[in-house]
Amino acid sequence: MTIIFYTLIVAVTFLFMEFVAWASHKYLMHGALWGLHSDHHGGGYTPFQKNDSFFLIFAIPCWLCIMLGMIYHVNWVVAIGGGIFLYGCCYFLVHDVVIHQRFKWFTRSNNKYIKVIRWAHKMHHKHLDKENGESFGLLIVPAKYWRKIEKDEEAINGSRNTPQHQDA
Ligand SMILES: [Zn+2]
Ligand SMILES: [Zn+2]
Repeated sequence: MTIIFYTLIVAVTFLFMEFVAWASHKYLMHGALWGLHSDHHGGGYTPFQKNDSFFLIFAIPCWLCIMLGMIYHVNWVVAIGGGIFLYGCCYFLVHDVVIHQRFKWFTRSNNKYIKVIRWAHKMHHKHLDKENGESFGLLIVPAKYWRKIEKDEEAINGSRNTPQHQDA
């Protein structure tokens, strides 16, 4: 039972972090902390961006939860730290590796979900400035981006099928 309980805390924290990431992206990074985030919208990806400091900022609550939870033997606090840590790893893999290809670890995926989140984040980067942005989340994106990829796939499948019909 306990293992299910702590796994649940990790999972809920992970989901909650998507909301925290969305809110801090929309209201802080495109708000008071735009100075740290702007170089991520400036194109030309350099090895290090000021924007990377957000990884350090989010590492603080993660580290505190794990350390204090362990010192005071409060396991559910350690589990919260674990959830934040997992979300951070996932954010790095999805945003920095899969989407921005800062490390060439994976080639482009044909997976529909990957295509949808890539497109949604591309739409976020279409806006180069602080104001009037869209698509601030990473893993959970509005249905309109799903529809766009579905339409694209239908169009590709349609054009693939048409010549075959003609041949037959
Ligand atoms: Zn942004
Ligand atoms: Zn980005």
